[in-house]
Amino acid sequence: MPSEKTHMVLENYIGGKFVPCSSQIDSFDPSTGEVYCKVPDSGKDEVEAAVAAAKKAFPDWSARSAEQRAEVLNKLADLMEARLEEFAQAESRDQGKTVAFARTVDIPRSVENFRFFASSVLHHTTDCSQMDHLGVVNYTVRCPVGVAGLISPWNLPLYLLTWKIAPAIAAGNTVVAKPSEMTSVTAWMMCKLMHDAGVPPGVINMVFGTGPKAGDALVAHPDVPLISFTGSTATAQRITERAAPYCKKLSLELGGKNPALVFADADLDQCVATTVRSSFSNQGEICLCTSRIYVERSIYPEFLTRFVAAARKWKTGAPSDPSNNNGALISKEHLEKVRGFVALARSEGATVHCGEGVDQLDDLPESCASGYFMPATAISDVADGSRVMQDEIFGPVACVNAFDTEDEAVARANGVRYGLAATVWSRDVGRVHRVARRLQAGLVWTNCWLVRDLNLPFGGMKHSGVGREGGKDSYHFFTEVKTITIKH
Ligand code: NAD
Repeated sequence: MPSEKTHMVLENYIGGKFVPCSSQIDSFDPSTGEVYCKVPDSGKDEVEAAVAAAKKAFPDWSARSAEQRAEVLNKLADLMEARLEEFAQAESRDQGKTVAFARTVDIPRSVENFRFFASSVLHHTTDCSQMDHLGVVNYTVRCPVGVAGLISPWNLPLYLLTWKIAPAIAAGNTVVAKPSEMTSVTAWMMCKLMHDAGVPPGVINMVFGTGPKAGDALVAHPDVPLISFTGSTATAQRITERAAPYCKKLSLELGGKNPALVFADADLDQCVATTVRSSFSNQGEICLCTSRIYVERSIYPEFLTRFVAAARKWKTGAPSDPSNNNGALISKEHLEKVRGFVALARSEGATVHCGEGVDQLDDLPESCASGYFMPATAISDVADGSRVMQDEIFGPVACVNAFDTEDEAVARANGVRYGLAATVWSRDVGRVHRVARRLQAGLVWTNCWLVRDLNLPFGGMKHSGVGREGGKDSYHFFTEVKTITIKH
């Protein structure tokens, strides 16, 4: 075990200064199972100080022009990009994902989030209408809301945090952000860049700690009129209750149980390769990952054979090894939860074709012996009503099933409480339009997955969320609109 001295110790970032916290939480390296970092265990006092700093910074920041704010966002993006490798290594160590994934997805996208909103905030216009018969013109203005409370999860730590910070400050708000207590390191590293980027003290405050303590204090703070949350549906329900007495604006990006519909006329080469990626990328720890695959019966045997073969090639092991597709899951508890779903499927008579309990992770280096690794797992013949098909697993597990008709496929795809994302595989243009419209999902990808135009709305329906994020949607969420009527 490493000595106490070797642990990295994080501090909160409040009013432009790093502030130590009297108590701390252990943070684990998922690939070794060892504590390597101490994260502030913040509570009401720390949140109070951060909200006060954000309130103080608001008048000056919100009075700046969009161009002035954009300049700061772009500078922050440049500084982060210059340290891309350092951030990627840190994200991998903190989260368990491969360095390659952090290097090509997490950190470049975090940089892009700042650049995108620095640019898009310059191009919004507001509405105007005329009522000539009354001698009246109406127009709308948009104003920043104030101190924004931002709460993010552990699966794409910096990526999802910056997806909130960037639009919030671009629109003129100041923020108090609380990253997941399990993955706080890259957010803390980003705070070290604030001064050089020209972020005025108090515009971005970072309070580290647990959900029930630091998160709850932020949600229940009367001077935080807006909460943007990404995480589980259960936590969102709790946040909604806590925020209700204050009538806060809420944006909730939640879990998914995303279906893929594979029709007999699909390009199977493309479909299998992409569906393996959509099922297992980032250890299956992406809210958009495919977890239920419905395949038209005539091609079901061929699809299953090819999917299992490709899943077996999806390599899991040391996050630093560039030949691995997956690293470690976030925590011991999460690994046990995901394994529990595979055991449940087995006990219900399903077939586990590869992965958990079938394939061994023989290549793991000694240093990873106590890490939270699990191979890509494909299961068939699970009943739609099973918890395995209804609950979000959030790990490298995909269930494959056959269907006979389009109506049946759509009904089964929609037969869960979630409605985040879906994919449709078919070369029939009429069908893809028809099925896409009938699917209850905020995002439908056809013959592809995870292709994103950041200008367009992102978010889920049903228990997958409330509200949308993206260019115009984020701008609307992070501003209040006012209609002004002028009679001349
Ligand atoms: P989680 O809900 O446990 O935690 C998310 C964040 O909320 C963390 O920062 C946590 O500390 C905080 N939190 C927990 N309890 C709180 C409380 N009572 N009050 C205030 N804050 C609280 O989720 P997680 O396990 O970190 O993340 C995984 C979940 O996130 C999955 O369900 C996944 O689908 C979802 N997710 C959704 C999206 C999306 O865009 N829709 C993206 C990524 C992850």
